Amino acid sequence: MWDLAIINGVLVSPTGRYRANMLIKDGKIGAITTGDLDGIDVRETVDARGRMVLPGMIDAHVHLDEPGPAVNEDFTTGTRAAAAGGVTTVVMMPGFIPCVNDAETLLQRKDQFGEKTFVDYAMLGGAGAEMLDTIVPQAEAGAVGYKSYIRPYNPQRPGLICKDSGDVYVTLREVAKSGVRVGFHAEDFPVIEKLTEDLVAQGRTGYADFHGSRPESTEILATLTLLEVARMTGAPLHLVHMSSPDAIDLAAQWREWGTDVTIETCPHYLLLSDEDTARVGPYAQVVPPLRSPESVARLWEQVEEGIIDIIATDHAPGLPERREKGHTNMFESGGGLSALETVMPLLINEVSLGRISMEHLVDLVAEMPARLFKMYPRKGILQPGADADFILLDPEVEWTIDVNRFETKDPEAAKIFDGRKVRGRLDEVYVRGTKVAEAGRTTGTAGYGEWITPVG
Ligand SMILES: [Zn+2]
Repeated sequence: MWDLAIINGVLVSPTGRYRANMLIKDGKIGAITTGDLDGIDVRETVDARGRMVLPGMIDAHVHLDEPGPAVNEDFTTGTRAAAAGGVTTVVMMPGFIPCVNDAETLLQRKDQFGEKTFVDYAMLGGAGAEMLDTIVPQAEAGAVGYKSYIRPYNPQRPGLICKDSGDVYVTLREVAKSGVRVGFHAEDFPVIEKLTEDLVAQGRTGYADFHGSRPESTEILATLTLLEVARMTGAPLHLVHMSSPDAIDLAAQWREWGTDVTIETCPHYLLLSDEDTARVGPYAQVVPPLRSPESVARLWEQVEEGIIDIIATDHAPGLPERREKGHTNMFESGGGLSALETVMPLLINEVSLGRISMEHLVDLVAEMPARLFKMYPRKGILQPGADADFILLDPEVEWTIDVNRFETKDPEAAKIFDGRKVRGRLDEVYVRGTKVAEAGRTTGTAGYGEWITPVG
């Protein structure tokens, strides 16, 4: 007796698409068959004729700070938004307060999160030079990777920071022993600080000035340090939220030289430019900042050429009272976008526009994130033995993004995309064979989500 059959749908994988029936039992895909189902016992059947069956997104970059000082999203609202948006697994950043920086805190956070989450989740540990001894134990406890920054030490973030290249070296040396990947925020803060001081001293605090304080050069500088230290230590490096095509070209060069480096970009770097910040200010404020239309065009080329490995959201809506300050002083605004409910509709729309194939999209948002963070083949692919995490997509329906319908705590932080017309509607979303959302509304249960630890 099967629990669920999804029949007549077109299943999409990175290597192709085919019409088939998918049979599910105990939350797993048990069989995929093109034969008829006469005589097969099924509790519930869903006819997916005319629809595509996509693996659910694995969002490798999600900030839900509960408690936290900067992000206006909690575990409940954030994972409701994930379900509604077709994100079936969230990879949690460690920057809560207190932040995740040792195995004990990781496990505490895992339990707190697990009581509330509507979708499956994995955790990143913290890696930094102040707490080298706790790096490997976090992977042993179940972290699928780490997050780290190159910036001055911050008493609220012990164990997440490398203040200079020496710190990067000792941190990556530890990471290399762990078997999992470290995601680094690649911006050179000492240079950003100098640029910011100069601009603020001149009373220049507008939208364009904020961009001027974090030029692509600052991303290139940090990327260079990270790449070379990764080559020295052999640590697997993941460059998060990359926005500079020049920095990405460098990473591609180091990869050619044998360095284990992978590259992430975000929907906002592909779909917005610095001209949007000029239009709406703090509602398009992200770090690194949005780039020029020329850089956006090159970023798309790097997606098409397969240089960019994954797309993730960096979902991190900032606090509204801080965001509003950005209209008078962008340096006082936290910015940050709510992106879990826009990411898949926006990217699927790019498929409908012919920008990339659906096969390539599912590689970027499902299979590759699962591979990079050691969840494959449990996650990220529609094949027997994998978790039955999937989206039923009607590729033809045109609709308009309405952030007022969103599940996120902070729909305002998604308003840069409000009113966009898109083609391709997420009809239903399933996590381990259970429906968690329908027509953009969450139907699941808090606490349903399971903790996902590294495979193998
Ligand atoms: Zn982030």
